[in-house]
Amino acid sequence: MLDVNSNLKIDKIRAPFLHNGVELDILRLDLVHPIVSGNKLFKLHHYIEQARHQKATKLVTSGGPYSNHLAATAYYAHENGFKSAAFVRGEAPEVLSHTLVACQNWGMELYFTDRTTYDTTDTQSLWQNLNHNDAKISFVVPEGGFGIPGSKGVEAVFNMIDLSAYTHICTPVGTATTFAGLINSASMKQKIIGIAALPNHEDISRRLNELLINKDNKNHELWMDYHFGGYARKNQKLLDFLNECYNQYQIPLDFVYTGKMLFGIFDKIQSDYFPANSKILCVHTGGLQGNLSLKSGTLVF
Ligand SMILES: *Cc1c(COP(=O)(O)O)cnc(C)c1O
Repeated sequence: MLDVNSNLKIDKIRAPFLHNGVELDILRLDLVHPIVSGNKLFKLHHYIEQARHQKATKLVTSGGPYSNHLAATAYYAHENGFKSAAFVRGEAPEVLSHTLVACQNWGMELYFTDRTTYDTTDTQSLWQNLNHNDAKISFVVPEGGFGIPGSKGVEAVFNMIDLSAYTHICTPVGTATTFAGLINSASMKQKIIGIAALPNHEDISRRLNELLINKDNKNHELWMDYHFGGYARKNQKLLDFLNECYNQYQIPLDFVYTGKMLFGIFDKIQSDYFPANSKILCVHTGGLQGNLSLKSGTLVF
């Protein structure tokens, strides 16, 4: 799964607002896999190794009804001979999201869980509470792949590519697993910028701290100003931006993570936040399947 070298592509953005020698590149992790694009497969890698080692036959995890993580877990399980099950946040809807339909088609059992229970109970406990007799042969992957095995998978990918020429490397932030992996694999001379997809600064900082190898590492900063009001919130300005990026640069973005990241980066470049001659790399973390939740016709791609 981590053998993605041949699929790693970096695009150069040529935009009129780039001046003072500032360059902007995009690492297209969205292209590493035709079905489950982006960072989620990398985050799963070491969890799956542990599951194999423990001779587990079923992967259990949790996520929201549009979760890229659920899609990746269901797909991976299906392709590699695991059964899978997931706790889905919220009551069962009348019509399943396209994400959940895909998960079911890959054989995933879905357990709808009311929001209060979901928000206050970890996946391991939810699974234990079901009292299944297959508890022994299951392996629980934390929500979103958050954890040291997750960040190690991300590190492995970034260690395969030479990113030393970049002064700034930027990624969207959810559970901070990808952000931590990048920080852990970057040099102290680089600045790693995380653009939060949700407004919970304290939660992100706590999670980040759990995963950093060197806790005193100061080569990073977290931007909280580009979440557009909350997780998966959007407005016309953001949607227009996604369409414009596709028309101008042929880069498809998702509205939950990568669109907000690039919006923030463009904004900061235009307000001269980046010093002259900065070489910026934005990591396109995928997630494009989530755009299917938008009304058709919203996006031009
Ligand atoms: C899950 C996800 C993220 C967030 O990654 P974390 O490691 O949880 O911070 C970013 N972008 C996309 C497209 C994602 O699906």
